[in-house]
Amino acid sequence: MKEEELLNDGKRFHGHLGPYLALGLKAGLLAKEHLKATPFKMKANLTLKLEKPVSCFIDGVQVASGCTMGKRNITAVEGTGISALFSTEGGSLRMRVKDETLAWINSLHVTKENEEEISRQVMQKPYGELFEY
Ligand SMILES: [Zn+2]
Repeated sequence: MKEEELLNDGKRFHGHLGPYLALGLKAGLLAKEHLKATPFKMKANLTLKLEKPVSCFIDGVQVASGCTMGKRNITAVEGTGISALFSTEGGSLRMRVKDETLAWINSLHVTKENEEEISRQVMQKPYGELFEY
């Protein structure tokens, strides 16, 4: 299953799992499915709080979309909420993490013991429940 594979890749890259990392994985996955572009033809511009754990989102996007610091096709700037603009030559996709989603994550007590289970829950939610796009 694609989601499970991505969680493994995300954990290997980032060092642990968490809800913001999982949100980034889902965002990158959505962009890839929607824009059908290779990571060499896609750009990601993220706006979010540049502070952990929210910034873990950036690593999730890198893993799932293939837009990476090394390819210089991802940027992240400070802002409120979490939003992303993915663009290719042929089109673009703007998405924003829903306020309800952020409120839900804020209400959880994420610990080392439950972070993997919570990340799995995020991965299993439909895109429309997590993002406005
Ligand atoms: Zn993290």
